[in-house]
Amino acid sequence: MCGIVGIFNHTEASKLAYLCLYALQHRGQESTGMVTSDGQKLHTFTSMGLVNDCFHEEELKKLKGDHAIGHVRYSTSGTSELKNCQPFVVNFAGGSLAVAHNGNLTNACQLRKKLESEGAIFQSTMDTEVIMHLIAKSNKKELVDKIIDACSQVLGAYSLVFLAKDQLIVVRDSKGFRPLVIGKLGGSYIVASETCALDLVDATFRCEVEPGEVMVIDSHGMRSLKPFQQAAKKAPCIFEYIYFARPDSHIFGRDVYEMRKGFGRQLAREHPVGADLVIPVPDSGVPAAIGYAEQTGISFQMGLIRNHYVGRTFIEPEQSIRHFGVKIKLNPVRELLQGKKVIVVDDSIVRGTTCMKIVKMLREKGGAKEVHMRISSPPIAWPCFYGIDTPRREELIAAHKSVEEIRKFITADSLGYLSFEGLRWFKTLYSGEEFCDACFTGNYTVDLPDTPEIAAMAKRHCTSG
Ligand code: 5GP
Ligand code: SF4
Ligand code: MG
Repeated sequence: MCGIVGIFNHTEASKLAYLCLYALQHRGQESTGMVTSDGQKLHTFTSMGLVNDCFHEEELKKLKGDHAIGHVRYSTSGTSELKNCQPFVVNFAGGSLAVAHNGNLTNACQLRKKLESEGAIFQSTMDTEVIMHLIAKSNKKELVDKIIDACSQVLGAYSLVFLAKDQLIVVRDSKGFRPLVIGKLGGSYIVASETCALDLVDATFRCEVEPGEVMVIDSHGMRSLKPFQQAAKKAPCIFEYIYFARPDSHIFGRDVYEMRKGFGRQLAREHPVGADLVIPVPDSGVPAAIGYAEQTGISFQMGLIRNHYVGRTFIEPEQSIRHFGVKIKLNPVRELLQGKKVIVVDDSIVRGTTCMKIVKMLREKGGAKEVHMRISSPPIAWPCFYGIDTPRREELIAAHKSVEEIRKFITADSLGYLSFEGLRWFKTLYSGEEFCDACFTGNYTVDLPDTPEIAAMAKRHCTSG
């Protein structure tokens, strides 16, 4: 998961890109970067860390020009280090070109090996660099055609924003895994992963980039191309609705907040239980918990308070305090919970360790009499290969435990997951929509990646059904 932005034709392009990245910080906290164009030259800045810590007035001033692209990174493919920060810039016969990528290519390894055997030298371990090599090698004349040529050779998930000295080119893969939206601000174009970035800079939403669509933005305006074969099945990532996207964003044609509340309502229909309170695991469980409370009429309360200032650099005291992690982030409100039967709503269970600590905390510190866990997505039993950092299959608790076994592990009085049918409730409302739900079903719509580790995983996938 990453966030990308693009600004075309604004005198304060670097500041706008900075604000948009700030709004997309939830999509990646590991590193950030920006490339601007002054019409002649590209200017680059990348750094490890949060947007607000990395960019200062000084850096933004050096990022000259009316066009910019930016990136916030959540490491998926490629290790966590400065050389893997984006945007990624290359100089080739066609000029200078920068790219910001959200997604994961599933055939990058194979393409990389082939390119290396032909003499290509790679600077990073990112799959994104493969696209740049393919562009540089393409014998097409126009830049946009080189990009289309390159993209037609890669598989997997990619929402891309390219910046050349006087052109912004935007591409979304034909399955449409990751979101990508375009807005207008006066005579400027703003491209972003999510609409919450457009809102911050007062841009008006124009459109989503369609799956398989290429947008060329230059001094003539914006034009849309549909160069790729239509995918038989679209696969926007359902997990964007469940967890990744910000609830105030509008992506894939709907409001994330409304979707999450809908999942919570459906969860309540499927798994009702008599209780005194509904509480969310903040922040990700809040909209679903509101939906659950609305549906049941049970009082919604903030029974867990989150510390919003927990950074990655927090130093835990060694040995003396065990299971410190969750306590740093969350604390129960004893006055609310003491002696109560509590329904706790969260968006998902990945490994189950956080969930278990929360249940224990609610009982031991909060004094809750009963803790009923409700999850607003089905059990995650398969890893994601399209740009989400879900762990290896053996680490996913639902890959090897039944719901009852998970309930025991997390020590809850009851556990209820949203059903598949429940997750798809909106499909009946919005007929014809297809989503990727492979982390729940194992139905991968694109060929699996070709790294040795994933090949082994894929084998397990095939044998275990
Ligand atoms: P678990 O109980 O499995 O240890 O953790 C579940 C929690 O992890 C949930 O609150 C959920 O919001 C959060 N979560 C789900 N997917 C991701 C992810 O990809 N990254 C991070 N940082 N948290 C996630
Ligand atoms: Fe999204 Fe899951 Fe598909 Fe990955 S496998 S793209 S997280 S729905
Ligand atoms: Mg959470």
